[in-house]
Amino acid sequence: MTVNYNSGKDLKALLDERGLGMRKKYGQNFLINGTVRNALLDALGAGTGDEVWEIGSGLGAMTRGLLDRGARVTAFEIDPGFTGLLGELFRDEDRLLLVEGDVRKTWRETPPAPFLLGNLPYNIGAALLAGFVEEKRLFRRVVVMVQKETALRMAALPGGPDYSSFSVLCRSRYKVTPLMTIKGASFYPVPNVESRGVLMELSVEDENAYPGVFYPLVRRLFSVRRKTVKNGLQIFLFSRIIKGKPIRSMDEAGGTAREILRRAGIRENERAENLDCAAFASLAGAALSLGFEGDTVSEGSSEKHR
Ligand code: SAM
Repeated sequence: MTVNYNSGKDLKALLDERGLGMRKKYGQNFLINGTVRNALLDALGAGTGDEVWEIGSGLGAMTRGLLDRGARVTAFEIDPGFTGLLGELFRDEDRLLLVEGDVRKTWRETPPAPFLLGNLPYNIGAALLAGFVEEKRLFRRVVVMVQKETALRMAALPGGPDYSSFSVLCRSRYKVTPLMTIKGASFYPVPNVESRGVLMELSVEDENAYPGVFYPLVRRLFSVRRKTVKNGLQIFLFSRIIKGKPIRSMDEAGGTAREILRRAGIRENERAENLDCAAFASLAGAALSLGFEGDTVSEGSSEKHR
C-alpha cells in the first residue's frame, strides 16, 4: 500500500479506515511537508547500510524515507495502533525493526546505532536527549525536530538568554547547528508551537571525557544561576565527600569552593551562565584533584536540565 504522507486529509482517512484515533498526549503531529522531510533526511546523511534509530515513527513517513535511502532502521513508537499499521505497511521490509513502547523505557535495551532521527514528541524531547548524553548513548549524527524554544537552548552560547544546563549538556558532546524553522502548517494536525530542526554532530567521542561529577555540577550551578559560581559551588559541596570525609559546614564548603575555583582559574564572582563547557570541565577536574569522591545525596539524571 502506498501512503501519501504529504496530505493530512489522506492520513486522516487512513486512520479512520483502520479505526485509529490520534492521541494528543503523545504529541502526534505528522510532518506533511515533503520538502522539509527530505531536507532533514539529507542533513542526517544516513545511506546504504547505515543503522538509524528513529524515535516516534508515527505512520512511517520518515521511516519510508530512510529505507528508500538504503538505511537499516530501528523505529521506536509508543502507540500500539500505529505500530500495528507500521507492521502492515512495511511487512516485506527486512531492514526495519519496530520497538513498541515508551522509548524512555525501551532504548537502554536496544542495540545502539550511529544515527538518530526524530520528530520528537514535545513533552519528552529535551529529557530524552539529556538522558542519552548523560548515559553516554552517543550518536555520530543526530537530526531532531523539537519545539523552537528547545532548539534555541540546545544551540545557545554562554552569556545568551537561552544558555542553560541543557545547552552545556548538548555542547559537551556535539557541535549543534540549528536547521530550518518549521511552521505549524507543515504538520497535521497543526500544533500550537513552532518547531525547528537541529543537527548535532559528535565532536567529543571519548566516553571518559568528563568525570562523573561534571553533569551534577553543571545542573547545580544552573539551578542557582543568579548566585556567583563560588556560592553555587559552596551549596553543591556542602555535605559531600572530599578525601573520604564529608564537608560538614558551609564555611568549609566555601573554602573548598575557593580552592576549586583557584585551581580551575575561574573568578569567584563569575556566573554559571558565562561559563563554557571547558570551564565546567576545569571545575570538575579541580574538584577531583582535591579528592572529590561523589555525592552523599542522590542527584541522578532524573533531575531536569533547564
Ligand atoms: N515521525 C512522524 C512524522 O514525522 O510525521 C510522527 C511524529 S509525531 C510528532 C511523534 C510520534 O512519537 C508519534 O507517533 C507518537 O505516537 C510517538 N511518541 C510519543 N511519545 C512517545 C514515546 N514516549 N515513545 C515512543 N514514541 C512516542
